[in-house]
Amino acid sequence: MSDFDYDLFVIGGGSGGVRAARVAAGEAKAKVALAEESRYGGTCVIRGCVPKKLMVFASGYGPAVEEARDYGWQIGDARFDWGAFHPKMQTELDRLEGIYQRLLDGSGVERFDQRAVIADAHTVALADGTRKTAKHILIATGGRPVRPELENADLGIVSDDIFDLDTLPKSILIVGGGYIACEFAGVLAGMGVETTQYYRGAQILRGFDDEARGLIAEEMQANGVDLHCGSDLISMEKDGEGIRVKATNGTERVFGQVLFATGRRPNSDNMGLEEVGVKLGRRGEIEVDDYSQTAVPSIYAIGDVTDRMNLTPVAIREGMAFVETVFHGNPTKPDHELIPTAVFTQPEFGTVGLTEEEARDQEPIEVYATSFKPMQTAFAGRSARVLMKLIVSQESRRVLGCHIVAPQAGEMIQMAGIAVKMGATKEDFDRTVAVHPTMSEEMVTMRTPTRKA
Ligand code: FAD
Repeated sequence: MSDFDYDLFVIGGGSGGVRAARVAAGEAKAKVALAEESRYGGTCVIRGCVPKKLMVFASGYGPAVEEARDYGWQIGDARFDWGAFHPKMQTELDRLEGIYQRLLDGSGVERFDQRAVIADAHTVALADGTRKTAKHILIATGGRPVRPELENADLGIVSDDIFDLDTLPKSILIVGGGYIACEFAGVLAGMGVETTQYYRGAQILRGFDDEARGLIAEEMQANGVDLHCGSDLISMEKDGEGIRVKATNGTERVFGQVLFATGRRPNSDNMGLEEVGVKLGRRGEIEVDDYSQTAVPSIYAIGDVTDRMNLTPVAIREGMAFVETVFHGNPTKPDHELIPTAVFTQPEFGTVGLTEEEARDQEPIEVYATSFKPMQTAFAGRSARVLMKLIVSQESRRVLGCHIVAPQAGEMIQMAGIAVKMGATKEDFDRTVAVHPTMSEEMVTMRTPTRKA
């Protein structure tokens, strides 16, 4: 008989926390409780991946209607109506949140719909004053968007707010160059909002393959995003219904709205963590070992609050590995190698493995790359280009990186990711017969290296 109220207390009902709680209670038959201070499903379901992807879908119909005309369809005036779309999106998020709640209830997890903090190595303090003890505590509190330190920055909004807008602004300035900034730029431009993007760095999507970044930036501009790199805000102030912005590029303009997509911070503050001995890094991330264990042996942390690789499937894997380690006695490290991922810009970007720049610093490589106008949009008279790129080790012949900029690149990279994870060589790709006519057939038909490095 345990001396604790629970075997496991999970703080945070997002992607990682819900999965860990369900699996620990269901498969491992542990006595589990979970506290969630806001909405079940967390960032991914309520203010991240899911509503964003629905908005990506919504914004894609405008260009699709245009293209349909070029394919002979007779279509009248097409105009996007946020007022028709937005309530439907909210209903869908409510439905998904309900599913998450029922999954927890069905697995026997006791839910506390309130904030929880750490009182000691085995005790959680709930907002209503109750204390609960647990043999293990799992922190899965995620992260939140932050505004830059700039006077009047609170005039602008952050990504969380986009999903709650009652109306779309006529014009918007998006500040930032990461994937969230770029995705929203494409989405809002596609929905008919006059979209400007300022990024203080030299090129958007820092950390990704340079050639892919360059093409995405060009295509975003061609799709109506007024993108300015090397540009940051100097000041912002209210101007009638809008916001007057002075920028380092010498411009002074009034925008209907300003969206800061300038970074996220782990939700680790005011949680009693450092007081009990849990160590935090410089950005506020909880420091954990390879098994997600913190400096306090009974306390583990997974997902965005550890700031390792901030993606939903990674948080889920970390949660599963935690349960395997702690409740099945099988020490399991979450695998952070060769994680395929997608950026839902327009066109999409799918990527796995090393960039050309990373790979050439590591060993001699061959680069196979082709950029072309795909059949579907070329027929409609568009000049849009796609990119297929493989980075190959000269010595082992292994494909070290695969980068795709194309419609549906997210779907393609999931499949290519299997081959790359299995250690496929360039010759394995070459032995695979092309699927014709597709864009991705180029992945198995590139015979001559574009360059060696
Ligand atoms: P979260 O999902 O953030 O869950 C944490 C939960 O903890 C929240 O519900 C919060 O309310 C709760 N909480 C916090 N503190 C407390 C407390 N003290 N007590 C009780 N509850 C608390 N990832 C992808 O893989 N693909 C994408 O396309 C993608 N798109 C994204 C788009 C946007 C705009 C954003 C912001 C993120 C996106 N992500 C995407 C990232 C993904 O959403 C996160 O990596 C993922 O949600 C992390 O899961 P988590 O469990 O660590 O935390």
